[in-house]
Amino acid sequence: MPRVLRPRAKGLALLAAAVLAAAPAGAQPRAPHLRPADTSDEGGIWALSEKAELAARQSAERNRDPALNGYVTGVVAKLAPEYQGDIRVYVMDRPFFNAQMAPNGYGEVWSGLLLRVETEDELAFVLGHEVGHFSENHSIEAYRALKARLGATMAVQFAVAAVAMGAAVNAGSAQGASDIMRAAGALNDLLYLGQLAAYFGFSRENEVEADGLGFQRAVKAGYDPAAGAHLWRSLIAETGASSFKRVREQEARVSIFSTHPLSSDRVKALDDLAAKTPTKASAAADRKAYRAAVRPHLAAWLKDDLRRRDYGQSLALIDRLSAQGEDLGVLTFYRAEAYRQRRGEGDLELARKAYAQAGAHADAPVAAWRTLGDLSLQAGDRPAAKTAYETYLARAPQAQDRWLVEASLKKLSEGSAT
Ligand SMILES: [Zn+2]
Repeated sequence: MPRVLRPRAKGLALLAAAVLAAAPAGAQPRAPHLRPADTSDEGGIWALSEKAELAARQSAERNRDPALNGYVTGVVAKLAPEYQGDIRVYVMDRPFFNAQMAPNGYGEVWSGLLLRVETEDELAFVLGHEVGHFSENHSIEAYRALKARLGATMAVQFAVAAVAMGAAVNAGSAQGASDIMRAAGALNDLLYLGQLAAYFGFSRENEVEADGLGFQRAVKAGYDPAAGAHLWRSLIAETGASSFKRVREQEARVSIFSTHPLSSDRVKALDDLAAKTPTKASAAADRKAYRAAVRPHLAAWLKDDLRRRDYGQSLALIDRLSAQGEDLGVLTFYRAEAYRQRRGEGDLELARKAYAQAGAHADAPVAAWRTLGDLSLQAGDRPAAKTAYETYLARAPQAQDRWLVEASLKKLSEGSAT
């Protein structure tokens, strides 16, 4: 994840690594409660970060659920007790896999990441990775590397541009992630992340180092050593399922995940670490806690994910989440929505089946019945349409479109054509 002033998703780290010379390794870990002198270059970056943080705090896309934010903050506190009070993480409702931490300790975790993480252990690894960038001052390193290459004036201009872009996103202006998403569909992340990745990217070395540090922090806090590699594997598999050939071919590099170099050697390095570490007894409790924290937002986040219009990825994600056997009404409903919106050969029939399957679960949105009725009618299955509409009205007696559904039912029982 991320980087610095660049409030952006996890995107083209490889590209960024190519753009930026590798940052010098081995700086001192940051001291807790540090505040750099205003006159230092770090102080300048810090001031920019504070502007970005203010924009994030005020953003309409900020998720204000106190339970969810408290949960995320609690995981950070377990991972980085020495930075208590130094790190502030905000949840943003944006359908990309992104987490980032600025040098002043302000961080963002995006809903596209929370939707894809399966357990608290995986979240801990990701957040630990971010804390690793923070503790090692990677953003300052990246900035200094940029300055060494471009000169101070250009470097400052880049930093300001990156912050301005982040602020524009948080203000929901025309350059915002959601607007770009609507305009460009699945291309958004490439365009948008690519621009920012070119400003501040962590080097491949920094990413590997942050993985290792995140691993250590997570294991020390009692989390599953295998969680990090599992998450990266899931993301690589999802990229491979993309509807877009270009994304599939680029593997994880130019996907929604790759603001960092997410490569197979990174996964292997984590596997090696995990192999040397005693395995935790069970992640069941952590999984349960995690599901409980995200469940209230699951439907909204899935709906947002479909706006990316990469139905291959969305369906792969839904398959993966469904394998755990929880939240099947919601997950199956959005599987149906993905088919319906994709509109490929046979998709409407797949959608119809999926809406019916969703309806068998207690947590299915009532809209499953309404849409099932419409699709059944389109398919000429009048008895199925009637049953679905009746179920819809029985489950949502106050529905605003009740009159419309009643009218359809009346026509159905009169035997007239639609
Ligand atoms: Zn990273």
